[in-house]
Amino acid sequence: MLPPQCTQFSSISIKTLRERVREDSDFLFKYVEEVYRAIERYEQRLRAYITLRPISEVIDDIENLVKHGKLGPLGGALVAVKDNISTKGIRTTCGSKMLENYVPPYDATAVSRIKNSGGVVIGKTNMDEFAMGSTTENSAFYPTLNPWDYGRVPGGSSGGSAVAVAACEATVSLGSDTGGSIRLPAAYTGIVGLKPTYGLVSRYGLVAYGSSLDQIGPMGRCVEDVAIVLNVISGHDPRDSTSLRVNVENFEKYVVDYPLKRYRVVVLEEMVSEGIDEKVMKIFNSTLDVLAKRDVTVEFRKMPLLHYSLPTYYIIAMAEASSNLARFDGLRYGTRSEAEGKLWVDAYRKTRMTGFGEEVKRRILLGTYVLSEGLYEGYYLKAAKVRRLLHQEFTKLFREYDAALSPTSPTLPPRLGEAIVDPIKLYSLDINTVPINLAGLPAISVPGGFAEGLPVGIQIFGPPLSEGFLLNIAKLIESGRSG
Ligand code: GLN
Repeated sequence: MLPPQCTQFSSISIKTLRERVREDSDFLFKYVEEVYRAIERYEQRLRAYITLRPISEVIDDIENLVKHGKLGPLGGALVAVKDNISTKGIRTTCGSKMLENYVPPYDATAVSRIKNSGGVVIGKTNMDEFAMGSTTENSAFYPTLNPWDYGRVPGGSSGGSAVAVAACEATVSLGSDTGGSIRLPAAYTGIVGLKPTYGLVSRYGLVAYGSSLDQIGPMGRCVEDVAIVLNVISGHDPRDSTSLRVNVENFEKYVVDYPLKRYRVVVLEEMVSEGIDEKVMKIFNSTLDVLAKRDVTVEFRKMPLLHYSLPTYYIIAMAEASSNLARFDGLRYGTRSEAEGKLWVDAYRKTRMTGFGEEVKRRILLGTYVLSEGLYEGYYLKAAKVRRLLHQEFTKLFREYDAALSPTSPTLPPRLGEAIVDPIKLYSLDINTVPINLAGLPAISVPGGFAEGLPVGIQIFGPPLSEGFLLNIAKLIESGRSG
């Protein structure tokens, strides 16, 4: 189901786009016009973008691709890119005043791969400042609204990338996920979002938040679109030292409407107990029924260690953030605020006091605190140990099961202003998504159904490099819903 902003034409998939262009070479130009019509009508309210490229530039790019026969696997798809992913010659703000006027001199590897495969960047999307948040309300510019209900948040931090796709203001998008930022907004806006295995997609050109957790990933209206984009962006990159040296498979072959094996999946009880909205649970249970009909075995298990994943995540993410964000001092990086005093430290202080928003400052302070002498062992080191244990437990679990299932979020999308007032409430929206980043695993969020007219997302996660099977299971859920 699509939100009211979409038309049948503006919501077409990459594969259909490719097919139609083969029959009619003008089709792509009509499609671009249709997408910009949606933008003209709805963008003023939704505010998915921070920077939108003019239609003339996009048409020029498409003409070039057509002229040189380079439409490739993306077929001229319009790709919205989260504003913490570097785009050569296009402003990249990270949703922050600190980088308000920053124009990168190079493309992130994921972006150059998109361009080389027939994708056209349409614009840069709104996000929580430096990807810190779960609602996109932490953007220094403006919040993005949920296309299903303008009174609600779209989730975050890749809220703009989710809304651009959900409201058909782009074909597909790139987001980044440190603790859930692709999956949560995908769930809240009714689209598909995939967080790859750590190291499968290059982080070169992604502005770092928590480097040991961050991954770039695709977002799309259907499982197939996500698989096509994943094909394009994954694979080894010598510019990222954490990039995996693996032969990347063709993920499209997993997007079939039959189970590729007799799956055994597990539900971790901790992910479906405390604090989960009943309406979300109802959809989750009906998804389990859909899978059971496709011969998927579902079992329940306990993993008490999961209770520690939220504090562990926030200690590690904040520690890494405080270190990564030290470079924004107005001297090396970031917009400098001129201070009255003569000392460099005055300019430094003013730059960081005025350039960063509240949430970013809170995290830099907490991150610095947990790394400080005398406290480091009690916080950071302990969190690192819990992380290790979690990794071991998941390794054991996935010796027995192909994948695990949970609701992506414990709740329906919160109303604007509802979650942001209380940091703890805000952080707990990520309860089911952060363990996956801590363990470096892949996960996908796929629409499971609707409750009170709002989308509910189902998360499927598995062992490292199990993206293919996750896509296959997601496809079973997708077709089980529409059929
Ligand atoms: N909401 C989480 C945080 O604020 C996750 C953000 C993300 O994945 N970038 O850290």
